[in-house]
Parts: sequence; structure tokens; C-alpha cells
Amino acid sequence: MNQFRFSRRPDIGEKVSVSFEFFPPKTDEMESRLWDTVTRLEPLRPEFVSVTYGAGGSTRERTARTVKRILNETSLTPAAHMTCVDAARDQVDTVIREFVDFGVTRFVALRGDPAAGVGTAYRPHPDGYANGAELVGALKSVGDFDISVSAYPEKHPESPDFATDIDMLKRKVDNGATRAITQFFFDNDLYERYVERARRAGIYIPIVPGILPVHNFTQVANFSSRCGALVPAWLAERFEGLENDPQTHALVASAVAAEQVLDLVERGVGDFHFYTMNRADLVFAVCHMIGIRSHEAEATGSAAA
Ligand code: FAD
Repeated sequence: MNQFRFSRRPDIGEKVSVSFEFFPPKTDEMESRLWDTVTRLEPLRPEFVSVTYGAGGSTRERTARTVKRILNETSLTPAAHMTCVDAARDQVDTVIREFVDFGVTRFVALRGDPAAGVGTAYRPHPDGYANGAELVGALKSVGDFDISVSAYPEKHPESPDFATDIDMLKRKVDNGATRAITQFFFDNDLYERYVERARRAGIYIPIVPGILPVHNFTQVANFSSRCGALVPAWLAERFEGLENDPQTHALVASAVAAEQVLDLVERGVGDFHFYTMNRADLVFAVCHMIGIRSHEAEATGSAAA
């Protein structure tokens, strides 16, 4: 075991803590699926649940509504994602104040993708925050919030090299970030190497692996190539031929995610962030595999259904 791993393996279920990410629903049908998901996952007692924020504030209202409902109708602690895209500082500051006014104390601070789409050049708003680090600073100047930031085990596609990427993470930490949550990845060695690089650069906040259960391999493969996450050949082989077999696809996806998470637990990782895609089943199954059990009686989310 090397110096960057935890000093001892957590007892499964006892020491493992999880958080869940949702996106704000667009339609009534999506809204109802989200609340079914929230209700099912709430009894697992995640440390927090986060709600994403669309590029350029396109989901501002929906993100706020979802976060408010989580605050008012469940026992969960929400974290609001925020981005800097296409917004002047005072617009971003207004959104921060709105969230704070209705009781938000946790944020996920991001620069966001270029307004013209992933792969195009990012141009900060002339009066805006230039990147995630500046947004962390803005949040910290308002209050002592719990602030998560992004991290990229395979480096962000816009980073010319790992040194630049880690330097950006360091700037976020220096400005007050509490934890980093990684982009999803499928090769745990890449994550471990990244954590080692970060520790060598003097970054000591938790770097929580972001786990993406593969609900639809074809979609994940397309999306991965755009955000710079590698899809290993072995993963493609596991899902080969299952395009029209959703039941087997789901069983394989659950096994793949559980295998990844259990391997990370073996490596000493104790915190996990799940990209739920607003679906509960795979996440629930994987949490069960790492010993996280439902505390039905204590959950209040059923009121939200
Ligand atoms: P930053 O960390 O600010 O920058 C990313 C990289 O770009 C840096 O590592 C750096 O190398 C380079 N860079 C940035 N600025 C400069 C500069 N001035 N000079 C040189 N290099 C620079 N997107 C959304 O739209 N909404 C969400 O809710 C959302 N949630 C996310 C949650 C997580 C956990 C993660 C990992 C990503 C999320 N994203 C979200 C995606 C994210 O917005 C994109 O990956 C975006 O391209 C980068 O945002 P960031 O905050 O990671 O950027």
C-alpha cells in the first residue's frame, strides 16, 4: 500500500459514504421519475445530493426549484451546482444570494462548458468569473460554504498537460474548495495516479471518484469521447451485442459499477459520488454491494412523491 492510500481499508458499509448527482427535470414525466429516484435513494442517507446547472444558466429556475424541493420535502442535504458560462459577476452573485436565501450551504462550483458546445474554445464573459477557481473565491467571499469542485483523472480536454490541470485544481483548493469530485472514469489506475499527482502538488482535500453506472453503453461511449474519458476495450466488450437486451445490459452495468467501486474500496477509497442520471436502480444495487443499507423509517422523501 503506498503513502497516498488511506492508512487502512474502510470496513465496508461502515466507513463508505456516498453522494448522488441529479439533473433538473424538463418535463412532468422526467420530474416524476426524478422524485421516484430521490424517494428510493433517500433512505441510503447520502452525505449530500447535488443538482446540476445547465450551461449559461439555462436551467437556473429548474435547478433552484429542484434544490428547494429537496430542502423542503426530504431529509437530504442538497448542493447546488453553479457555472460561470455567459454570465457577468453580478449575475452569478445574484444566483449565489438566491440559493443562500433559501437555505443552501453546499455548492458545486464549475466553470462550465463553452456556450457553443464541448470542443469549441471557451471564452469567459468579459465581466465574468474566468474559471472554477474564481467562482470558488466568489462563493467563499459570501460565506463559509462546503464547496465541491471538479477534477479530471484523465485531465480536462482543454488542459495542455497534467501539470496545468493540477495547477487549476490547486487554485480551487487555495480559494477554499472543500472537496473535488472527479469526472467519471473506468480505469481505477488513472484515478489513483491522478490522486498521487495531486498529493505531490500539495493538494490534500478529498478527491472523490465520480462513478457513472452505464445505463446505455452507446450513449456513454459517445459522451466519453467528448469529455475526454477513456472507454477501455474491455468495457466495450462487456456490453457488446446488448443494445437490444436491456435486462442483460442492466445486470452487466451493475456488475461493472460494483466491480469498479469495490476495487476502489480495496485501494482505500471511502467516499463515492454517483452520477445517477436520475435513475435509482443501478446506484441502489451498487450501494447495497458496498454495504450501504436503507434506513427507511428515517427518510421523509415519500412525502415528496
Ligand atoms: P475549470 O476547472 O475552471 O477548468 C477546466 C480546465 O480548463 C482546467 O483544468 C484548466 O487546465 C483549463 N483552464 C480553464 N481556465 C483556463 C485558463 N484561463 N487558462 C488556461 N487553462 C484554463 N457542467 C455544467 O454545465 N453544469 C454542471 O452542473 C456540471 N457539473 C459537473 C460536475 C462535475 C463533478 C464535473 C467533473 C463536471 C461538471 N460539469 C458541469 C462539466 C464542466 O462544466 C466541464 O467539464 C467544463 O468544461 C469545465 O468546467 P470546470 O469547472 O471543470 O473548469
